[in-house]
Amino acid sequence: MQSHTTLYRGRFAPSPTGPLHKGSLIAAIASYLEAKKNNGKWLVRMEDVDELRNVKGAANSILHSLEAFGFEWDESILYQTQRKDAYADALQNLKKQKRVYPCTCSRKSLRDKAASGLITTGQFGVIYPGFCSNNAFTNVNPEDYSIRIKTPEQSYSFNDELSGYNIQNLKIDSGDFIIRRRDGLFAYQLAVVVDDDFQNISHIVRGSDLLDSTARQLFLQQCLKYPQPQYAHLPLIVHENGDKLSKQTGAKSIGNKADIPLLIECLKFLGQKPPELLSHASLDEFWQWAKNNWQLSITSTLQKK
Ligand code: GLU
Ligand code: ZN
Repeated sequence: MQSHTTLYRGRFAPSPTGPLHKGSLIAAIASYLEAKKNNGKWLVRMEDVDELRNVKGAANSILHSLEAFGFEWDESILYQTQRKDAYADALQNLKKQKRVYPCTCSRKSLRDKAASGLITTGQFGVIYPGFCSNNAFTNVNPEDYSIRIKTPEQSYSFNDELSGYNIQNLKIDSGDFIIRRRDGLFAYQLAVVVDDDFQNISHIVRGSDLLDSTARQLFLQQCLKYPQPQYAHLPLIVHENGDKLSKQTGAKSIGNKADIPLLIECLKFLGQKPPELLSHASLDEFWQWAKNNWQLSITSTLQKK
């Protein structure tokens, strides 16, 4: 068996909820160059697990943009919609370990409880304190529950290559979180961990919007006895009003034609120092310079406009 630690395997994992935009291009560039710099593999995974949010044609549009911008991925693309059996196996494993329970609380009841101060709300919604944690799967209507995992009263910490030491107490900071939704879809947190392991990903370079998810992912990795990858969370582009640039906040598509000035802007955003002349370079010359000069460590984690 191949060791996880000797071979660098990175990935770019876009969700096909719209075309590629500058924010996602930055994550693609950084994960790609870091993999190349380390003589590693770079994989693309289509994170279409949340089928209600997928936009028709977006997956192909993302792949066409990547191709046009000169990215070359290794191995075939993994689609999360084709991985449901693997997620179900992982869930079964967690069930056997008695770590999960069916939660029948409606969103409305949780919202009401939060409004009356019975439960607190964190950055990602209510911090669920486990009202249903004694529910047995045999006693609930199979159509009508989400599945949550019991979070331990324990701290999870990791050293991020860019943002340094991070620590979270899952019980306090996240609460018992959902790994399979009421509509039957698996949650991103479970899917990402199962797939990163399946693809032997050793290094994860992604946007800082996922920094707070990492502790939950470390916990799931531990429960499922998976090795822990190394993380680097990139700065995000933020709007004047503080919102991050995303499809929801109107990010433009990068289109289907290699745009060298845009690639250079992204490199500069990542703290790199491309020479002025590079804006006249061909796509090949651009990537050659980028691969030879890339340094993740000079990327600042400060959020920028
Ligand atoms: N699919 C996620 C996104 O597009 C990225 C997940 C990850 O990199 O772990 O935001
Ligand atoms: Zn509940």
